[in-house]
Amino acid sequence: MSESTISHLECSKTGKVYDYKKLHNLSDAGKPLLARYDLEKAKKTLRPENLAGRRRDMWRYHEVMPIPENTELVSLGEGGTPLRRLVRLENKFGVEELYMKDESVNPTGSFKARGLGAAINAAIDRGVEVFSIPTAGNAGGALAAYCAAAGKECHVYMPKDTPAAFRIECESAGAHVVLVDGLISDCGKLIAQIKDEKGWFDVSTLKEPYRLEGKKTMGYELFEDFGFSLPDVILYPTGGGTGLIGMWKAFDEMQELGWIGSERPRLISVQAAGCAPVVRAWENGWDEAGFWEGAHTCASGLRVPGAVGDFLMLRAIRETNGLAISVTDKEMMEYSNILAAGSGVFPAPEGGAVLAAYKKLLDRSEIKPTEKAVLFNTGSGYKYLEAFQLGE
Ligand SMILES: *Cc1c(COP(=O)(O)O)cnc(C)c1O
Repeated sequence: MSESTISHLECSKTGKVYDYKKLHNLSDAGKPLLARYDLEKAKKTLRPENLAGRRRDMWRYHEVMPIPENTELVSLGEGGTPLRRLVRLENKFGVEELYMKDESVNPTGSFKARGLGAAINAAIDRGVEVFSIPTAGNAGGALAAYCAAAGKECHVYMPKDTPAAFRIECESAGAHVVLVDGLISDCGKLIAQIKDEKGWFDVSTLKEPYRLEGKKTMGYELFEDFGFSLPDVILYPTGGGTGLIGMWKAFDEMQELGWIGSERPRLISVQAAGCAPVVRAWENGWDEAGFWEGAHTCASGLRVPGAVGDFLMLRAIRETNGLAISVTDKEMMEYSNILAAGSGVFPAPEGGAVLAAYKKLLDRSEIKPTEKAVLFNTGSGYKYLEAFQLGE
């Protein structure tokens, strides 16, 4: 087995270099750190035609993952999700090629398993014993599960109005859950105040370098799913933006590896009308998103009023000729049901949001019926039964 080719970490704003062997949260400039690899070396073994015999989960791309060789991985089988062709919805909408990347089959029912799976392995390798996380929903459950698998202590802070399933799965896995009268941003602040004193390692979105590395594997997988090519458009439900930024990073790496040229799928960020900081910034031509006051939506994963990676999301959208669009909760739930009835997959409202956005963009001719489009269903509907009941 060939090893990880990670070489250093780099500040996403200033380019300052950091030692990947040490534990890090944000850079000195307060910005996300990005993992960099020796891709010339990785190229020798990481070739599309070499992948067939490898393990099926996200660790099959180990040359561009941050864990050294011979590490005993804590894994629950994250990644390797199916790309489903939505034939019945193609007929319904009169389009040629529509697909769903179905992340609901990940461990703990969402793609958060990819990010937390990568983060926890990297952190354990660097000596961490106790973890903490602020969460709007699925991230807490994923961290709790990996901590349970690894036998590590886990502290989860979530808004007190988060649907019960998210809290129960954390407690069931043995995590310490604190319910906060506020939003994920308030949860983050509470953790920041005590984590150093308590000796916790905080794995907030983009505030440590490796959740991004887990999520980027979705970009590598799409290339394999499409028989060594990429689709025209990707619609992604955006909260903290790790998936969007992760795939954008993956495509750059894949170009350096010689897998693709300079062409990119258009990245379309989908947000909830009640919490749409990226859409607002996109429409105003801003480089940063700022904070969204009074955030509300039943799509827990989209209830992220402020994101440290905002400028990276906006750059990824701009550089790929993408766009950002919002949908209401009502549209989201209506299209969650259309997606379920047209595919057999019970999606998270975030998945419904993306189908609603696709339909709007199709009607506005911003996506053509001939374009190969991928909808990300980022989670399972089973944790959101309250939202489906209200939508009835
Ligand atoms: C967290 C989450 C999102 C948002 O993901 P980011 O990559 O942080 O933008 C979308 N959908 C679901 C189901 C989530 O749990």
